[in-house]
Amino acid sequence: MQKAYGAAKPKKRFLILVNPNGGTGHAARVFKYASEPLLRAANCSLNVVETTHRYHAQEIGAEIPMDKYDAIMCCSGDGIPHEVINGMASRPEDGAQLLQSVAICQLPCGSGNSLSWSLNGTSSASIATLKMIKGRAIPVDYMAVTQGDKRVVSFLSQAWGLVADLDLGTEHLRWMGGARFTVGAIARIINRKAYPCEIAVKVHTRDVRELSKHYQKYIVDRVDPLSSEEIAKLDPNVFASLKYGSVNDPIPSDWEVSTSKEMANFYTGKMPWVSADSLAFPAAIPHDGLIDVMTWDGKVGRSDAVNLLVASETGRHIDLPVAGYMKIEAFRITPIGKSDYISIDGESFPIEPYQVEVLPRAGLYLAH
Ligand code: ADP
Ligand code: MG
Repeated sequence: MQKAYGAAKPKKRFLILVNPNGGTGHAARVFKYASEPLLRAANCSLNVVETTHRYHAQEIGAEIPMDKYDAIMCCSGDGIPHEVINGMASRPEDGAQLLQSVAICQLPCGSGNSLSWSLNGTSSASIATLKMIKGRAIPVDYMAVTQGDKRVVSFLSQAWGLVADLDLGTEHLRWMGGARFTVGAIARIINRKAYPCEIAVKVHTRDVRELSKHYQKYIVDRVDPLSSEEIAKLDPNVFASLKYGSVNDPIPSDWEVSTSKEMANFYTGKMPWVSADSLAFPAAIPHDGLIDVMTWDGKVGRSDAVNLLVASETGRHIDLPVAGYMKIEAFRITPIGKSDYISIDGESFPIEPYQVEVLPRAGLYLAH
């Protein structure tokens, strides 16, 4: 079976973005020793840029020439893909066209590395590089997030509650690498913190048994090939208007609205793996036009919470009664009271209501 569309392009032209702040801070060295020699041996062309500040990758994305690169390799965690995608999407004339012709990929150098795990099943930089050299471009949905009067593109996840705290409240543990998420989770489980909120969702299905039975499969196994007619039909106006409007519009009448005083975790995303040891969204498919949601009940006891954490390493948390899972088309979260963090793709956002909907097949990733 052809697993992606288009032939794997030889001698790819890469823009390489190196984040010296990603993960434990070794991105430049990892690229130089584990990746660059392989790329050069494969006759790829490389333009290497080290990011010097937050939002630098966004500025770069806004200026990338059309037709110059086949792929953008982010030597980072998930922050640099988030920024570069947003920079590209910000171009009113040709943002969608650019995102539908240049594939995003990740050399795993961050704390999370969701892209590398989900697309290529590895956090080894050398194996990831070989897969990017051989990789084909696969179509993927992004998500539009509106908050206040702002709009951003999210490729990975939005988190309210426990996971947001883990993404952003464990910066002081950065030296631990990915272990900072586990240590943070245990500390918060002991505190049994709740994150009250109002939730409005456009539900698609709660029946995910069939979709999630191949827990360990990576997303490249879930992508049907696109025909050339489908490729031609990729929507060049995908960013132009939102189906459900913004967070400032009334909630559509067919959305389910509820208030949860005991929400521990309202975690939404498009990538199955969110870090090396968390298959948070085992039913996620990259271009099904849907967002996967995982919820934890705040009343869950400590031993159940530890079970949830352990089960999420293999995606089996969705079988536990204290966890909820569904596929939705869109949602809005309105925080009630105080919380410290909202995390979008692992980046910090204000504690204000946010609304999310799918941008179908808005971008490309390299996968093998
Ligand atoms: P991690 O997975 O460890 O969070 P990321 O790649 O997500 O790694 O990067 C974390 C943050 O580093 C992002 O917000 C990004 O904007 C920021 N960043 C990028 N370049 C620099 C730099 N030179 N100095 C400080 N921060 C930077
Ligand atoms: Mg990050």
